Amino acid sequence: MRAAIIEGDGIGKEVIPEAVAILDYFNETYDWGIEKVPVEVGLGKWEKTGSAITDDDISLLKTCNLILFGAITTVNDPSYKSVLLRIRKELDLYANVRPILPISGIYKLLKIKDHKEENVNIVIVRENTEGLYSGVEEIGAEKSMTTRVITKRASERIAAFASNLASARKNKLLVVHKSNVLKSDKLFLDTCRQTAESRGVDVSDKLVDIFAYDLIMNPEKYDVVVTTNLFGDILSDLGAVLLGSIGLAPSANIGDNQAFFEPVHGSAPDIAGKGIANPIAAVLSLKMMFDYMGKTREACLVSRAVTAAVADKIVTPDLGGKYSTKEVGDFILSKVRQLD
Ligand code: ATP
Ligand code: MG
Repeated sequence: MRAAIIEGDGIGKEVIPEAVAILDYFNETYDWGIEKVPVEVGLGKWEKTGSAITDDDISLLKTCNLILFGAITTVNDPSYKSVLLRIRKELDLYANVRPILPISGIYKLLKIKDHKEENVNIVIVRENTEGLYSGVEEIGAEKSMTTRVITKRASERIAAFASNLASARKNKLLVVHKSNVLKSDKLFLDTCRQTAESRGVDVSDKLVDIFAYDLIMNPEKYDVVVTTNLFGDILSDLGAVLLGSIGLAPSANIGDNQAFFEPVHGSAPDIAGKGIANPIAAVLSLKMMFDYMGKTREACLVSRAVTAAVADKIVTPDLGGKYSTKEVGDFILSKVRQLD
């Protein structure tokens, strides 16, 4: 098995090594036979070579089953093309998965009183290839248009993915849409309903605006949610509020042959180089990679080690702590070893 390691820019270079240290520990202890393939892409590469990602990088990534990704700084320059969009497209990573599962003890640490964290356990599944991010645009001085593309094929594929996930959980799937106004969403909703029903999953639906409100007010009502690209983009960032910090939110982009794991946060230029970035989102992204690999026991050990860091208040300044990225990473690794 080959795992590409893309640290990227900014704090990506600080948080990914902490996750990789845990991967190395299991890979070496249990002879998993994972070959790590470092891949350099991003702003740093663009400044050196004029291109943030090359055809060769894409070819190399296509040889890797797994990709662990940090973050990339996107600059506002017409010649700079989004690296992430290109990777998602070329590798056809159609399902974006964002678990909203607060770390046990985090609400107490952050003095969040609105909810009980044990009642919040949601997964948002976002269709990653079309919708308003189709790239079909006509840009003019007086009128600009972006085409919202919904196909039956992509809707079926994401609904099947979300239904599989639902059947491994509470067998409940919620389709979030705006089909009363956006007629293109009727195809998405109908296809999701049919696909879920044909798989024996209980399916319901909700309008996106009401759902956004309810997600924060009554998160305990929700389990697996499937939605289109733009809605999923916004809702999954909104859902990160329930986690307590952007530095705690992991994600996965899954295709039929490959899977890509990344913290939700960006390269955070404001804190880059200071050694204070929270490594937990990156570590939990690695945990998602372990789950994907079927390494459930190891995934569980990583969660328990992260919970221990929060319980012992070995945390970075974004969570009110005084520890560095490396100190938190080292603590989590030592806890993993101890629990193993
Ligand atoms: P980019 O352009 O790469 O997306 P950004 O400026 O949008 O970068 P984000 O990384 O999304 O930055 O971060 C938004 C805010 O959250 C920043 O103030 C950043 O310092 C903070 N932040 C993000 N990630 C972390 C982290 N892992 N630990 C601590 N703070 C973080
Ligand atoms: Mg950003």
